[in-house]
Amino acid sequence: MAVEILPLGGLGEVGKNMTAIGFDGRYIIVDMGIRLDSILNYEDADLGTMSREELISINGIPDDRKLRGRDVRAIVLTHGHLDHIGAIGKLAGAYNAAIYGTPFTIELAKRVIREERSRKVKNRLVVVEPGGVVEVDGIRLEFIRATHSILQTALVAASGGGSTVLFASDFKLDDEPLLGARTDYGRLRRLGKRGVLAALVGSIRVDEPGPTPSEAYARDRLREVMEDVTPSRGAVLVTTFSSHIVRLKSIVDLSFELGRTPVLLGRSLSNYCAAATKLGLVDFPHELTIHGRPNAVRNTLREVERARRDYVVVATGHQGEPTALLTRIADGERPLKIVKGDEVIFSASIIPNPINESNRRILEAKLQAQGARIHRNVHVSGHAGRRDTVEFLKLVNPEHLIPCHGTRDKLQFMSDIGRGLGYSRERLHMLENGEALRLGG
Ligand SMILES: [Zn+2]
Repeated sequence: MAVEILPLGGLGEVGKNMTAIGFDGRYIIVDMGIRLDSILNYEDADLGTMSREELISINGIPDDRKLRGRDVRAIVLTHGHLDHIGAIGKLAGAYNAAIYGTPFTIELAKRVIREERSRKVKNRLVVVEPGGVVEVDGIRLEFIRATHSILQTALVAASGGGSTVLFASDFKLDDEPLLGARTDYGRLRRLGKRGVLAALVGSIRVDEPGPTPSEAYARDRLREVMEDVTPSRGAVLVTTFSSHIVRLKSIVDLSFELGRTPVLLGRSLSNYCAAATKLGLVDFPHELTIHGRPNAVRNTLREVERARRDYVVVATGHQGEPTALLTRIADGERPLKIVKGDEVIFSASIIPNPINESNRRILEAKLQAQGARIHRNVHVSGHAGRRDTVEFLKLVNPEHLIPCHGTRDKLQFMSDIGRGLGYSRERLHMLENGEALRLGG
């Protein structure tokens, strides 16, 4: 069996993940993501109307031209983050293949496809339960449960003709995820015993000694900060990743517990919460206020302005995005004004790129100038640190190791870990986007 691994994005960068895996010339594609900083860099960027070629030329989506015309049988999505699914509206239509993912991932994929205005995506969408297995034309696809910062993340094991390739880009080993399943250690161990020809392993946080703290630890940190700030008379604003349903649940629960009413405001917060609630993945209280539409957001903020000490405002804008709600509030463009004594909690880290760093600096300066106190990085990462990575590699014990998803220096860290575990140069592969690796056959 000849196995080919062809990464098309995500190597030497953060974002636009896409990898093709071929078994004797029949391919599956794993993930189709966007690279947000490239798109934000481009002044007139509108993902909905820009063409595939334009987006490839600005490095916003993977360059899949090497793959076109080949025999692709399935498109597999590992999880619902946009750097893994955001480009399906642009790229999936070029392949006559169904799209497979867990229920939450497929629900989010539908929303990406709905926003696509420049081309039609007609690929069939197939839901696979977490832990499930599907067989597509002799290629077996296992969706192994894993913890990350979004619900229903899967590590995908693709097997054909007795060879297995494991795709493990975004995950951590969290034994207290609070919501959703733990990483399926037993399954990974069995996979390792059966034999894994190659594993692609994500490198984003691999330079941190780890272990990556659990989501329960994030909730404890949030509790400390919120206990400190909620007795004040000021407004309390919290911002986090809109797709991070578990974190949002912690913020909502803690707000009620500490005697304030949480209100979730902003379009993307409303979208992700609606998707999770629809699938029954989270049980937010019935009376919880969640609004995405501008008028409803304004009305709620007017109410908060009248009784500032009664609410916790959960708003979009953790990266300081200029058009997000938190920035609008800081700019004085919404009915809630920031005054001395207000508290702003960032339950998120800065996704490291120059645009985010600059946006966040500007936002924090505006908030502070108006008298708010800032609480930074009340957060834990969703990515494996060094300790998680070593444990994972020992469990799965792949014959070949391919560092993936990360800037060049992070891929190098992963490579160093591999060498420390005894991987020789023949078994360790530092690939680049568009560079194929052929094994066996
Ligand atoms: Zn992710």
